[in-house]
Amino acid sequence: MFSRILIANRGEIALRILRACKDLGIETVAVYSEADRDSLHLRYADETVCIGPAPSTESYLNIPALIAAAEIADVEAIHPGYGFLSENEHFAEVCQSCNIKFIGPSPSAIAQCGDKVAAKRLAKEAGVPTVPGSDGPIDNEQEALAIARKIGFPVLIKAAAGGGGRGMRVAHNEPSLVTGFHSARAEAEKAFKDSTVYLEKYIEKPRHVEIQILGDTHGNIVHLGERDCSLQRRHQKLLEESPCPVLDDKTRAAMGEAAVRLARAANYYSAGTVEFLLDKDRNYYFIEINSRIQVEHPVTEEVTDTDLIREMIRVAAGERLSFRQEDIKIRGHAMEFRINAEDPDHNFKPSPGTIHTFVAPAGPGVRWDSHVYQGYTVPPHYDSMVGKLIIHRHTRKQVIEVARRALQELTVEGIKTTAGLFLRILEHSDFASGEVDTGFIDRYFAPR
Ligand code: ADP
Repeated sequence: MFSRILIANRGEIALRILRACKDLGIETVAVYSEADRDSLHLRYADETVCIGPAPSTESYLNIPALIAAAEIADVEAIHPGYGFLSENEHFAEVCQSCNIKFIGPSPSAIAQCGDKVAAKRLAKEAGVPTVPGSDGPIDNEQEALAIARKIGFPVLIKAAAGGGGRGMRVAHNEPSLVTGFHSARAEAEKAFKDSTVYLEKYIEKPRHVEIQILGDTHGNIVHLGERDCSLQRRHQKLLEESPCPVLDDKTRAAMGEAAVRLARAANYYSAGTVEFLLDKDRNYYFIEINSRIQVEHPVTEEVTDTDLIREMIRVAAGERLSFRQEDIKIRGHAMEFRINAEDPDHNFKPSPGTIHTFVAPAGPGVRWDSHVYQGYTVPPHYDSMVGKLIIHRHTRKQVIEVARRALQELTVEGIKTTAGLFLRILEHSDFASGEVDTGFIDRYFAPR
């Protein structure tokens, strides 16, 4: 096992990784940008290294600075967390060539998952259902129109390098397909320096259901059930739960097996997520693989009684998974609420600033994963998440009751947050009955 790990991230996930290291008796090296000097995880780390100024391109995305820090601090491994360099095959390769273990999948698996066109092709080959659409990239309007005529409108134009819902356009007719094709390409070029796009049938009112997978370097791969992430604002997840309220055991097992088949085809190890859309008739279609730990991993940890970060670290050290498929049992229900420093009453405008009063919720079934504290200033440079409230109880109904109480207890004064929005969502009858789709929030709570 490693004796010293560098955490190449910030915020709540840096703290989450640090906690897993401490529990394993591993020393931690925390890195930070000049804007993150007051970050909570720095207080608990064995060593801290400033890696550059506030902009992430000069700090958390700065590979030479991170490798220099890792070499000076003499670590054996780097955990990239999520976002930043977590799905950057080049970074994983550089780590490898510097004799530092990258705590994640192999560079080639990252590359295969990061190219959505390649991942979709692999899924097809592995016998995993995919959304009907183009077989590969689309180069011009004529090609886009020909495929759309074949599969029928509405269609979705997607960026091959996509992430965070960027480079995506829905088209309901031919003129909007032509405009969407060009604007999706331009957006993808700007966001990912790669304008490759492809086309998919736009599934109406789908649910987003994803399978957590975990593999080791000895050929063991398991799945840990699903997460329903249908509550999204403009394709960005806000609330996740497990199990999915409408999934039957047969479909659950089939999706889990499909995810494992795909992971095997990609020679995958470490933690990963296979994302699917579920249509109104409960058909499932693969959309993408995320080759990293996800923000919403705690809901799976709660219902399966596992520690996914710990498993990732063990796997990177060459150890075997500490459980087999038959050991994984889903117990009870869990939900995660992403508390963002945003103003839901003003179009989710970011609300950075100083938290002058702060009280965390607690009590049975309540988990609060966060790096903020009273007096902490949320910097304006990074994503706006200030914490994740995770509730685990026996039934979904009980989760909703405890969540209501915990969201009321949570006190964050000085900045605006999304906590109040969740209280309203919990009151909605469609949410209570579990009848939601990916358009639910945009429809009822965030009209354009
Ligand atoms: P990203 O990597 O940008 O997050 P994804 O492929 O994961 O992109 O899709 C993000 C979200 O976009 C999904 O959760 C879903 O809400 C929506 N989406 C993606 N593909 C389709 C599709 N073919 N039909 C309808 N909605 C889709």
